[in-house]
Amino acid sequence: MTTLLVKHIHTLVTMDDERRELRDAAMLIRGPAIERIGSSADLENLAAEADEVLDLKGRCIVLPGLVNTHHHFYQTLTRAVPQAQSCELFAWLRHLYPIWARLDAHGVYVSAQMAAAELLLSGCTTTSDHLYLYPNDCTLDEEIRALADLGMRFHAARGSMSVGESQGGLPPDALCEAEAAILKDSRRLIERYHDNARHAMTRVVLAPCSPFSVSRDLMRESAALARAYPGVRLHTHLAESELDVKFSHEKFGMSPGDLAESLGWTGSDVWHAHCVHLDEPALGRFARTGTGVAHCPSSNQRLGSGIAPVRRMRELGIPVGLGVDGAASNDGSNMLHEARAACLLARGGARDAAAMTPRTALELATRGGAQVLGRDDIGHLSAGMCADFIALDIDRPHFAGAWDLVAALILCQPDSVDYSFINGRKVVDAGRLVTAEMPLLVERTQAAARALAQG
Ligand SMILES: [Zn+2]
Repeated sequence: MTTLLVKHIHTLVTMDDERRELRDAAMLIRGPAIERIGSSADLENLAAEADEVLDLKGRCIVLPGLVNTHHHFYQTLTRAVPQAQSCELFAWLRHLYPIWARLDAHGVYVSAQMAAAELLLSGCTTTSDHLYLYPNDCTLDEEIRALADLGMRFHAARGSMSVGESQGGLPPDALCEAEAAILKDSRRLIERYHDNARHAMTRVVLAPCSPFSVSRDLMRESAALARAYPGVRLHTHLAESELDVKFSHEKFGMSPGDLAESLGWTGSDVWHAHCVHLDEPALGRFARTGTGVAHCPSSNQRLGSGIAPVRRMRELGIPVGLGVDGAASNDGSNMLHEARAACLLARGGARDAAAMTPRTALELATRGGAQVLGRDDIGHLSAGMCADFIALDIDRPHFAGAWDLVAALILCQPDSVDYSFINGRKVVDAGRLVTAEMPLLVERTQAAARALAQG
């Protein structure tokens, strides 16, 4: 296996159990994993035998790759749609469903690459994506191929919708699938792509879209199917907006938290997006069962959904990661911005400047995301962990005048990284994505968006 020595790291933010921040540090990488971390002086004698040496010359802050726990890549093709700029969740969905009905396999591939490229450049090395509509020739295979081509670690969530308007659901009938077909495709995807090994690049997740677009049977059967395979997790949307909670009471006679529990959708193998309006009993159950949350602060503000009780969740010990959410409700895919949004929203909501520190925001974006996705091989940097790390040059305007470089990652608004490595492989080099041609990708994305607009 090839070896890489990274030396003269100005500050190495390990996010390890002691939260060590090391000066003039070095890392030895062997194959996909970190072998040693120490001072540059300690590891200098390894330089001669390393296959490659990256000398950061004391100019970079290095941290674990960021982890995105909720997204809908395909929405990259419908960003800033005029009629969907100022509506709440349900109206926003009703406006966009007919446009999304024109999505095809090429659009899925291109939008996945564009969203992933934005994520990579903003420091994200592992992402999940939730694809829940399959019109025309769309498949989840397109996303998996798109991310494999970019070299990004990917938890692909097989979403689904099965209860359309005629059955009292929210989506148009034409965007719904038969439940037997959903379960059959879910099984196919798990058996074809799911890799439960350490350092795995692809895992499959089962993810019926939301209680307002699938049946309770499909929620139960998806859970049973996922639990028949090691490491296959469950994901859905829960308690996102007040209307969402109202729908749950009217249709099911119970709160979203009670509904999730009644369907078997709590447990350490489940994570729910949003959870803005979970009540205290539900939070207690999430804590007891280890059920995770994908906190999506930008999307929640964008759609006026509210403020998730993240501080309370963390006090209770609920696993919390961050999600940029779909590119049509953010409308970007920038993980550094998302971590900043989490910090600011927590403070604004609590009217307390101590409600979330910058380091806690970084912790949510790294260790928190890893825990939510069920990974013990990413989220911090130490021997044996995946070599997923990012580096930001501190000689740039964002860091000028900053006294605390770690806090500056959140407070001073850097928006991109200079280097990114995933499983020891370089994906961003000197600020440039090395696994895709950016101008070509932008051109293809624009063409695919135009095709959706023209119908
Ligand atoms: Zn979502």
